[in-house]
Amino acid sequence: MDYPHVVEQVLSAVQPHIGAGQVADYIPDLARVDPKQFGFAVATVDGKVFSGGDVDVPFAIESISKVFALALVLSQRDTKIWDRVRREPSGLAFNDLIELEIEEGIPRNPFINPGAIVVTDQLLADTGDAVAALRALLRAETGNAHLEVDSVTAESELRTGDRNRSIAYLMSSFGNMLSPVDLALDHYFRQCSFSITCAELAKAGLFIARHGVRADGSRLLEYGDTRHIIALMATCGTYDEAGNFAYRVGLPIKSGVGGGMLAIVPGHCAVAAWGPGLDPKGNSVAGGVALETFAQVSELAVF
Ligand code: GLN
Repeated sequence: MDYPHVVEQVLSAVQPHIGAGQVADYIPDLARVDPKQFGFAVATVDGKVFSGGDVDVPFAIESISKVFALALVLSQRDTKIWDRVRREPSGLAFNDLIELEIEEGIPRNPFINPGAIVVTDQLLADTGDAVAALRALLRAETGNAHLEVDSVTAESELRTGDRNRSIAYLMSSFGNMLSPVDLALDHYFRQCSFSITCAELAKAGLFIARHGVRADGSRLLEYGDTRHIIALMATCGTYDEAGNFAYRVGLPIKSGVGGGMLAIVPGHCAVAAWGPGLDPKGNSVAGGVALETFAQVSELAVF
């Protein structure tokens, strides 16, 4: 695969879309991000990185952290998480409350906010410190020993997080929270606020592309666990746009409202795109164009 050529094609296709969309202003700290930035990186399973644009500018990982939290919970070889969260697309916004009430506090999947809060709550119970577990994983896989939570973003999420608080209290009322809501949400808000670059995000995703094998060659997950994560990314990773992204891109993707997107090509590479401007569903506009172009040019789509 001529990855430098693929990256070049992506950068040129994205050019007219850089700055398009709206930054996530419901989290005030994300509203101050310059939307006219774009980064793209491909990390291959043999350890090479091909990239272009603003690949070394850190941004908030947001919902992409949900993939790593789920990976850590599954690495505990404990399947009780599946009594607490289902594995179906929601068809509704990532922070919707209505479905959760109707379905008695059991979220549709681990990649919408209610499901992710349950996963973080489980990781907190399993490890004693969900953020520390995530920090250790992200540092090891990216090779950046200084990778850290942005405390300003975390504070901003905490201050404006009433919707997530409502979600967590609703789940608690149905008996689906292990820790007190405030404690679980403190970990959830901080996990969403990890500051990561595009190049680092691609590297962080590689253990999924390698079917569970980490950067140091040790195994975090069984083959089946990564197959499950990939399936959930494809069906639920871009919320109520997952069908459209399967159609347009044809790769498992997880997005975040910081404008990041992580796509996995099993056995080949992990691909990260970042453009802060979002579409109305909360997915990066430029990131979507980038991944669509990547799939088209590389012919690596799984569908
Ligand atoms: N921290 C964000 C929230 O809870 C994450 C949402 C997202 O990235 N889709 O609203």
